[in-house]
Amino acid sequence: MQTNEREFRQAQQFLTERDHFLVVSHVQPDGDAVSSTLAVGWLLSCLGKNYVMVNEGPIPKRMEYLWKSDKIVDLSKTLHAESYKHVICVDCADFKRTGKSSLLFSEDAEILNIDHHPTNDGYGSYNLIVPDAAATVEILFDLIRFMNLEMNQNVATAIYTGLLTDTGGFRYSSTSPKVMAIASKLLEYGVDGPGLSELLLEQVTLPQLKLLTRALNGLQISEDGKISWVSVNDDDMKITGAIHEDLEGIVNYPRNIQGVEVGLLFKVINENAVKVSMRSAGKVDVASVAQTFGGGGHVRAAGARIEGSLETIVSSVIEQVKQRL
Ligand code: 5GP
Ligand code: MN
Repeated sequence: MQTNEREFRQAQQFLTERDHFLVVSHVQPDGDAVSSTLAVGWLLSCLGKNYVMVNEGPIPKRMEYLWKSDKIVDLSKTLHAESYKHVICVDCADFKRTGKSSLLFSEDAEILNIDHHPTNDGYGSYNLIVPDAAATVEILFDLIRFMNLEMNQNVATAIYTGLLTDTGGFRYSSTSPKVMAIASKLLEYGVDGPGLSELLLEQVTLPQLKLLTRALNGLQISEDGKISWVSVNDDDMKITGAIHEDLEGIVNYPRNIQGVEVGLLFKVINENAVKVSMRSAGKVDVASVAQTFGGGGHVRAAGARIEGSLETIVSSVIEQVKQRL
């Protein structure tokens, strides 16, 4: 079945032989992170296990339709002091991506690390890493099948959500024949494909559109036309009334310009930190650019949180990209 059957078997053993789990994903969770958290929760429910799902912050509002999404504890709002020995991390390429959720790991915690980022550093006690997978939910689909559990519409909707968002609506190069076969199977479970596309990929909120407008007003492009970038600061967020999830997709605009190889979004976090989103047309491996700044990701989509002022970070990231062009 799987070429990495040993890892799947280890993951299965981890889940079946233990109890009282903590399920976490990365900070500022995207569709794959939320859906993977919930798919693991669903799997643990099937096994009759006790578990808690947490995230450092809130889950995106538009994902509230997901089964049990309201059960993901938002650590920024709820004091949660318990600590856990059995931890499952999903969609986290490295330990620090778990953010403040890691404060709930006991000192002797055993971590099952399930992820699809090629830059994953194998920080888990057990690692189920499949870099060929388009999304972490693809690995979970395989794991659920490996464990002979019968899926239902709830978990199918979560898995479809993760696939849809991480493949940009089944458009990115990660959209393999296998991804389409899985999506087809999920539709048979009653997933509302067009409804999810409308909600997750088409609809925008007014603050989101205003934020995009502001960002595009400041769009810049290198002399050779191969690198283009936008930046967003706190004022932009406040004036437009936008929230963090409204940043999603902005980086595609500079990246989509004809001739551009790398598109960048610089989001000022505070005076001394910037979150950079990087997208590549294929020639430049932006995961390697992100890694030079302590981040990671995929060849065509990566990110990093970098300490420093916006100005210095913009020029050093662009310098790194230029070296690879
Ligand atoms: P985004 O730009 O949409 O936040 O992230 C693009 C890709 O890069 C995603 O696969 C995401 O997991 C990864 N990524 C974003 N920020 C970081 C980071 O700070 N560290 C690591 N390791 N990966 C990141
Ligand atoms: Mn992912």
